[in-house]
Amino acid sequence: MRQHNIAVINAGSSSLKFSLFEVTPSGPVRRIRGQIAEINTDPVFSARIGTEPSGQDLKLGDAHSGHHRCLHFLLEWLGQHAQVHAAGHRIVHGGLDFCQPVVLDSSVIERLEALIPLAPLHQPYNLEPIRVLSKLYPGLIQVACFDTAFHATKRKEARQFPLPTFLTQAGIRRYGFHGLSYEYIAMKLKEVDPALAQGRVVVAHLGNGASMCAIHHGLAVDSTMGLTAADGLPMGTRSGSLDPGVLLFMVRELNMSLDAVEDVLYRQSGLKGVSGLSHDMRLLEQSDRPEAKDAIDLFVYRIQQQFGALGASLGGIDGAVFTAGIGENSSHVRSQTLQGLQWLGFELDHDANNRHASRITAAKSRIPAYVIPTDEDLMIAHHVQQILIQG
Ligand code: ADP
Repeated sequence: MRQHNIAVINAGSSSLKFSLFEVTPSGPVRRIRGQIAEINTDPVFSARIGTEPSGQDLKLGDAHSGHHRCLHFLLEWLGQHAQVHAAGHRIVHGGLDFCQPVVLDSSVIERLEALIPLAPLHQPYNLEPIRVLSKLYPGLIQVACFDTAFHATKRKEARQFPLPTFLTQAGIRRYGFHGLSYEYIAMKLKEVDPALAQGRVVVAHLGNGASMCAIHHGLAVDSTMGLTAADGLPMGTRSGSLDPGVLLFMVRELNMSLDAVEDVLYRQSGLKGVSGLSHDMRLLEQSDRPEAKDAIDLFVYRIQQQFGALGASLGGIDGAVFTAGIGENSSHVRSQTLQGLQWLGFELDHDANNRHASRITAAKSRIPAYVIPTDEDLMIAHHVQQILIQG
């Protein structure tokens, strides 16, 4: 049988992550994973092929800096290693119209470009590889998968801001993000704990970007993010939810420009802002500066609060899942969080938590908590394979 391969591309503002999957009857199997980091300044390419323990880092140099040139390098490199039959792209915003993966053509691309104002710091970078690929390989099947799509099942109250109708009609709604991660976790939970997969679950996706999602019967009920990925929990450099009066104060009393406010909200706040040290949880955990502890404590406190809020949306909680960089690796954040949530029925198993075991609550815990590594690229590859099968 001829081998079919799917390239998955996740293009951000400063990095280009990619995977190559082989289509098999039991689902996509990853053959290559890699990234080009620091694409605007000093691009570094790295890739892992098959089960190789680690790939070589390759400095691409100035001649390859910028999205366009990095993409060309990546496509050429991929072409030398495999024939690509279809591509899947992670797209942050699908707006109201795109609630499931869609095959891209020029009219869909135009509609996605019209959504740029809803995600100005992400959407343009997500769309760039689509344009380059369509030009280089006009016949290639390209599929867009959306971070907002999983949240389409939220009920009306969870989607609406208490704002005048003309603003709601302008698309100012609570969409929710990290949907491909939540969809993957909901799928994986069916293997890890099939009973819980049907129950009421709070999933904490704690990476540089961080959010939480309430899931029931495998479907989204509510999440902490709204119109943009700046809402909800404090993040690496984003503030998360604020009193809207804070924005007015910055503009009116501190005479800050729109760009300066955006810079504070997206790049100078969160763990970095509070600690004054770094956005990186590893560095904060290693630091003995009180500000580093303050930043972690505030992060944990807000996560605990959201367990309460999302638990109310669900009418109770049957279990939790931690995922993404901090959720998968920081036993400290997990233990601090769950120790403050004993009232919900979580009882931590310290050894299991320190070992990063799959289940981190004690056998006698009333409800379980799990650590499940997320894999958004694999979720995208599943969607693309499904579309290829449907023809
Ligand atoms: P992104 O949103 O960029 O995909 P990631 O999911 O890669 O983010 O998560 C990055 C975060 O995970 C960083 O704050 C990093 O410090 C944290 N992290 C990664 N490994 C560890 C670790 N071993 N201990 C604590 N935090 C970690």
